[in-house]
Amino acid sequence: MADKNTRIAIVNHDKCKPKKCRQECKKSCPVVRMGKLCIEVTPQSKIVWISESLCIGCGICIKKCPFGALSIVNLPSNLEKETTHRYCANSFKLHRLPIPRPGEVLGLVGTNGIGKSTALKILAGKQKPNLGKFDNPPDWQEILTYFRGSELQNYFTKILEDDLRAIVKPQYVDQIPKTVKGSVGAILSRKDDTDTQDIICDQLGLLLLLALQVQNLSGGELQRVALTLCLGKPADVYLIDEPSAYLDSEQRLMAARVIKRYILHAKKTAFVVEHDFIMATYLADRVIVFDGIPSKKTSANTPQSLLAGMNRFLSLLEITFRRDPNNFRPRINKLNSIKDTEQKKSGNYFFLDD
Ligand code: SF4
Ligand code: SF4
Repeated sequence: MADKNTRIAIVNHDKCKPKKCRQECKKSCPVVRMGKLCIEVTPQSKIVWISESLCIGCGICIKKCPFGALSIVNLPSNLEKETTHRYCANSFKLHRLPIPRPGEVLGLVGTNGIGKSTALKILAGKQKPNLGKFDNPPDWQEILTYFRGSELQNYFTKILEDDLRAIVKPQYVDQIPKTVKGSVGAILSRKDDTDTQDIICDQLGLLLLLALQVQNLSGGELQRVALTLCLGKPADVYLIDEPSAYLDSEQRLMAARVIKRYILHAKKTAFVVEHDFIMATYLADRVIVFDGIPSKKTSANTPQSLLAGMNRFLSLLEITFRRDPNNFRPRINKLNSIKDTEQKKSGNYFFLDD
């Protein structure tokens, strides 16, 4: 493992092409020159491998790589001990995991590739957290021991014992017609577990679409069907990935209201990954800000109030918001405008209604 606050080189898997370069990274690495296997790559390799324990973070390989495939990250020591998941060597690491709590909507916010959807899959029990050991994944016993004493131990134990049901609204609704055939009405009745579905179907304006074949639906219509199928199933935790995709602004507000009302009334928990900032603020009671470097190293902070969390997220993006005096909708301040500068000085990146 890397030492305290270690700087190490990591690889972008899309850019590294050992068959097309001269393995400049390996040839230039001072640790390799001292005879240690810090970088392993041959012209036949699919990708370079870098040893986290040997790399000294000098950055020489980064300058030498002709494809810009390498970069340096700082790994803080406190996060090193809290790795929840990692896909493979020299790649994206997810540190920590949000703690679920009943009765509220938690918004997961952060830029693309920062691990929000991975966190959802792990919380749904659809992906086992490997605690960073991608080459020798732990079994559930080890995972539960790792989380011992935390709310996550309890959470995963319940998932494993089928004591807690988690339902996912998938991110890519355009894939639905590939696996599901038939009319909207037939599909909804096949999956109808509760009366809730009828109510949600009505609230999301799907009643007029019941006779249509799923194959002929637009993206926005598929999104509303997916939301109805998700919320219409009895569960304890709802994991809703990008509910605003394909919806117009009115439909987004309607969907936000439906999700929020259902979760509140049914006293369930929902985690919502949302890129639309406005939708996220309408939906979430609290937010978890994912920060770090997309596709490299990211961490999920503990849940914060909507105001504090959005302030943090917007400060990472260096964006400030104001309330439009005419239609009361949130608006982004122009960069370096008087308002933008004033709000940044006072630390008010976001606002809430009085
Ligand atoms: S990191 Fe760069 S130099 Fe090293 S093998 Fe990959 S493409 Fe070649
Ligand atoms: S950062 Fe330096 S020590 Fe680490 S792999 Fe690159 S050249 Fe080697």
